[in-house]
Amino acid sequence: MEKTLAGRTALVTGSTSGIGLGIAQLFAEAGAKIMLNGFGKPEEIAKARAEVGAAMGVAEAPYSGADLSKPEAVREMVAAAEAALGSVDILVNNAGIQFVAPVDEFPEAKFDAIIAINFTSNFHAIKAALPGMKQRGWGRIINIASAHGLVASPGKSAYVAAKHAVVGLTKTVAIEVAQTQITCNAICPGFVRTPLAEAQLPALAKQYGVSEEVALKDHLLEHQPSKRWIEVEEVAHMALYLCGPGSGGVTGAALSIDGGWYAN
Ligand code: NAD
Repeated sequence: MEKTLAGRTALVTGSTSGIGLGIAQLFAEAGAKIMLNGFGKPEEIAKARAEVGAAMGVAEAPYSGADLSKPEAVREMVAAAEAALGSVDILVNNAGIQFVAPVDEFPEAKFDAIIAINFTSNFHAIKAALPGMKQRGWGRIINIASAHGLVASPGKSAYVAAKHAVVGLTKTVAIEVAQTQITCNAICPGFVRTPLAEAQLPALAKQYGVSEEVALKDHLLEHQPSKRWIEVEEVAHMALYLCGPGSGGVTGAALSIDGGWYAN
């Protein structure tokens, strides 16, 4: 594939699985040097490091096990990435968690954790990475928000609040650095086919007494007019576009990739 990211470095949070791993893999194939981050079983992390490392031409990609709910750990992760890669030209804030409950039953610790990981970590990472980008005169910040950064769904108060906040932070950072070669954008995916998302299907099918196919189209993808999953690779290619040639005029955007959800 065309090495549009040759010479670039990227820190991708939450990249031991799902969307983050897909972005890390594609960016490495496009020529970038990557630092991975995220949790998982040791063998899963080793596999991710080996796969992304192979695309980088090394045995294993650099990795930080930072817990992004902790501001100091976020700062240390950015510093470690700058030390390991020489710079952080591209920051992808992707790590996220979910919990679903009505607002009056929502566990307070879960609410705080979702805000910390899905939103506040983005602020700490951007604050830590931006000075280096300014110094070098080029940067790309991509925040993986969600369709839930633009619309709400019941039971997801913390997630929807966090993702709306990510979109607000994205716009603010973008206009603060608008006269530099640094852009900041949010990607707002609908339902993306990841192991965690797919794992919801058997329970939904049981709950409604329908097949998994019907549970997918009529229940999980109720608001996604395309009635199909968004694929991880599709999100990764949108992120790649935002870092590649010709992308400098796109900043402060909340880009939907949701099969028509937000249009509906
Ligand atoms: P995933 O569970 O496969 O990946 C989440 C990643 O975040 C993992 O690597 C995990 O280890 C990491 N992580 C979780 N808590 C962490 C912490 N405290 N510190 C460091 N890393 C942590 O999920 P995914 O579906 O790939 O989601 C990635 C992002 O995309 C999330 O922000 C999610 O909200 C967003 N998103 C997902 C979908 C979807 O349908 N899958 C849709 C819209 C937005």
